[in-house]
Amino acid sequence: MPELIGIAKMAAQSGLLEAKSQVEYFEIGARSILNRTKPNMPFEWTINPYRGCEFGCQYCYARYTHEFMGMEDGRDFESKIYAKAAAPEILRRELRKIDRADGIAIGTATDPYQPAERRFERTRAILEVFAQEKGRRLSITTKSDLVTRDIDLLREVARRNVLAVNITITTLNQRLARLMEPRAPRPDLRLAAVRALSEAGLTVGVFPNPILPMITDSEESLDALAAAARQAGAQYFGGGPLFLMPCAQKIFFPFLEQRFPKLAGPYRKLYATGAYLGPDYKARLRDLVVRIRERHGLASAPVEYRPELWEGEEQGTLFPIH
Ligand code: SF4
Repeated sequence: MPELIGIAKMAAQSGLLEAKSQVEYFEIGARSILNRTKPNMPFEWTINPYRGCEFGCQYCYARYTHEFMGMEDGRDFESKIYAKAAAPEILRRELRKIDRADGIAIGTATDPYQPAERRFERTRAILEVFAQEKGRRLSITTKSDLVTRDIDLLREVARRNVLAVNITITTLNQRLARLMEPRAPRPDLRLAAVRALSEAGLTVGVFPNPILPMITDSEESLDALAAAARQAGAQYFGGGPLFLMPCAQKIFFPFLEQRFPKLAGPYRKLYATGAYLGPDYKARLRDLVVRIRERHGLASAPVEYRPELWEGEEQGTLFPIH
């Protein structure tokens, strides 16, 4: 057996925190909490308090991150969850070294409010660090209504930092959501979270990501979602198409064969040359999303980083549509 190094070695040495019937939780050491993004991203840093995600979305692109830890079976991603240790201490140290205006996105690879968070509160511990900060530019992306547990803390963070909460809702169809996102909260619970966040004065938007060809990409489906998002108090709405890396294809294609057999062939064709869809499809979808957004008076993104606007203010009062 080859000698384990780096993150694979750390994963092998991780201590067991808890085990449920299907899921095991471990604690893993982390060298850093802030991860630098590639150029041209809308934010400079990402934070993912957990490795792996119990929600188990069939299309999840982040499964490859478990391969770095020596786990080749894509399903390990949803059954072996690693909570990062000592995150607040490391984060405080790292924040001192970065530009205050840099964008920081929480929950880009795994959901920060997945079931593990209820018990281990690693995301909450990170937000407590940001509640002591000033002038940071933050976003949180989640599919979980557990985010409402932290409303008071989020308000504290938003008082002196620019904070946007992105709630992901791919469909309003409960049955479809259950099939595609088996352990994620129901769409109506996510909409209720949008409402609660909005009523608390927080900046909140809805992303129907990933938009799935022939499954959730119809005008009717996206329009209904945008209308419901707007009604719940979302301020912005935007989305992009599914991309399917090989590790995601290994789970998603068999899922299609089982549940949507007529779509299996067309999907294999669509993704025959790579993980991304072609420019024509992307342009059509972009136009559709813009049209729907305008129809419902939704912005494309949260308020820009403009310290002169928010100095001494509650963030929620600054957003023009709110
Ligand atoms: S919630 Fe996000 S990270 Fe978790 S399984 Fe679904 S797509 Fe992956």
